[in-house]
This record gives sequence, C-alpha cells and structure tokens, in this order.
Amino acid sequence: MWDEAGRPFIDLISGISVCNVGHCHPRVVQAIRDQTDKYLHLLVYGELVETPQVAFATRLAGLLPAPLDMIYFTGSGSEATEGAMKLAKRVTGRPEIVAFKHSYHGSTQGALSIMGDEYWRNAFRPLLPGVAHLDYGSMTDLSMITERTACVVAETIQAEAGVNRPSEAWMKALRRRCDETGTLLVLDEIQAGFGRTGHLWGFEAFSIQPDILLLGKALGGGMPLGAFVASRAHMMQLAEGPVLGHITTFGGHPVCCAAGLAGLEALLEEGLIEDVARKSALLTSMLVHPRIRAVRSAGLLMAVEFGSFEENKRIIDRCIEKGLMTDWFLFAAHCMRIAPPLIISDEQIATACRIIREACDEV
Ligand code: PMP
Repeated sequence: MWDEAGRPFIDLISGISVCNVGHCHPRVVQAIRDQTDKYLHLLVYGELVETPQVAFATRLAGLLPAPLDMIYFTGSGSEATEGAMKLAKRVTGRPEIVAFKHSYHGSTQGALSIMGDEYWRNAFRPLLPGVAHLDYGSMTDLSMITERTACVVAETIQAEAGVNRPSEAWMKALRRRCDETGTLLVLDEIQAGFGRTGHLWGFEAFSIQPDILLLGKALGGGMPLGAFVASRAHMMQLAEGPVLGHITTFGGHPVCCAAGLAGLEALLEEGLIEDVARKSALLTSMLVHPRIRAVRSAGLLMAVEFGSFEENKRIIDRCIEKGLMTDWFLFAAHCMRIAPPLIISDEQIATACRIIREACDEV
C-alpha cells in the first residue's frame, strides 16, 4: 500500500485477515491469469461442477479430518454462516440456535441474528427467533444447549472480541455437550483459519473438530470466497426437499477457486505456518510500553490493549500517519489489531513495533 504521495505502509491487518500469503503473491496472480484465459463465469454454481471448484474442494477435503469431506463454496463469509445455519436446521429438524456474546459471524440477517452484541444488532430487528447468546468460555452456560438446539455457532478464537482464546477444557466441554444433545457444532474459522493461529485450522490446537466448519477471508487468496464444510451425509440433505437447499450464483467463482488453491499451496510450501508462533512471540517481546496494558495473541491474530477507545484511536491514527496500517476491533474498541500477512519479515516486525511505541509516546 502506498498513499497519494507514494509513501509506503506496512500492513498489520491483511484487510482483514485475508492476505495471509501477502499481497499479489506471484502464484496467486498467475493462477488468476491462467483461469481468466480459460473462462470467467459459466453457470450458476451447482448446475455442473467445474474444474477449478473440484480441484480446490478436493485439496481442502484432503487437508481436513474425516468426515469433513464436502465443501460448499459461497460468495462470502456471511453466506457461509447462513448456509451452515440452514444446514443445521435441515439435519436436526430443530428450531433453536446457540451463539456467544462478542462473536461476529457476518452482517446478513441470519448472521446478524447470532452476532453477540446488541449495539450492532438492535437497529435491524426483528431478527431470527430462537437464538440464545451464552458467555464464551462459561462451563455453566453450556447447560443451555439442549435437545432443541440445532447448532452451536462459535468462533474457534473470538477475533472481534479483541482476540479471546478459549481454554482447551472449555472447547472439549462444548464438544461433549453438543454430542450429548445431538447438536451440531459449527466452528467459524473465517478469521482464524489458514495458518493465522499457527495451525492450518484453528481447531487443531484444541484436539476437537466441528461438525460444520466455516471458511472465508484468506480462503480465496485475496479474492472473494467463502465456504461451509460438512460431512457428505449431512451436506446431501441440502440436495432434497427442496432440491436446491442453498442457491448461489457467484459462490465458488472459478477465478476465486483458482486463486484460493494457489494461495493454499503457497501457504503450505513456503513454511509460513511453522513460523507464526515465533513471529507472534517476537511481536509480543517488542510491544512493551507503559500505555500497553496487555497483548493477547493466537498466533498472528493479536490484540494490543490500551486504556480507552479514544487513546487507542489516537495511537492508531498516529501509526497510520507514520506508515503503519492498523485498526481496532468491533467489540473491543480499546484494542489495536495486529493481524499481518504471515510473510511479514522480522525487520518489518521491528519497524512496526518501533512505530507503535513512538506513537504511544507522541499522543
Ligand atoms: N465470521 C468472522 C469470524 C469474521 O471475522 C467475518 C468477517 N469479519 C465474517 C464471519 C463474515 O465474513 P464476510 O465479511 O466475508 O461476510
């Protein structure tokens, strides 16, 4: 990124959590060129399968644990959330959905209904009925998941809450409660997926797996693409009664799928995921200043906590003036977001941290 005067920016947010393999990765750009030479849009997704969709879905399924073997590509993360909620209702025949306070799953009406913040929801009522919001991380609240609950939708790491990483014990208890009640567990890794936490999939750190996985953002390598992933047995329920249980014109666009596959191969082959924990620790070690109250991290998804939104905003504005692109979190406005492309160099990390410390001194 350069401003009008040609001054460069270091990107600390990947706009947002999208550009995990950096901007204009040559393999992604080449894959887009190759696909645009062949064709752009052919058919509404699902009428016939197309090679780029099949190739990407096959690769993703090969990297996911069984039985997560069927990928439904969508046009966005929000649409993936919508698809998953519809699928869960269809599979279980149940009316209720459980989500968590301070969770973000998208801005369409279904996804908005399960968003965990009344300020952002309230202006758009009426929303979906039958939604309960529990405390993320609370063992006692898990008893509110019952035989009426179609699915529990949870972020593997709560991003917009200012990077809230649950305990492994809670994740396992959540999985257990879903199993006890026959409820589907939907994990939203739209922001936490594709290596950002130091694992290809965020759930790997908790020794559990979801029934439905939501993907987006980095999935398309910089192009718009989302997906919900389930077992074939579950996903096929969208194929009957009605026959087209979810319809999308542009979901799984061939250029986006080609870009996504190239981005995934680059992510895996360039050892980017293996270096996430070290880079995260390097950032933490350099983010020391009297104004910084805490640094929370899940790999290269990090939140730097200040005393108030006003203080944070002044520091962010100063950082941007100094050539460092960052911002705040929807549900944690007093925290600065650090979610750089995973290719960020040690030198760029040192420069970024110096700019943040200087901004802290100057505001
Ligand atoms: N889930 C999470 C965790 C997200 O961070 C986002 C986007 N910020 C979404 C869902 C929605 O994705 P999109 O903006 O592509 O609809």
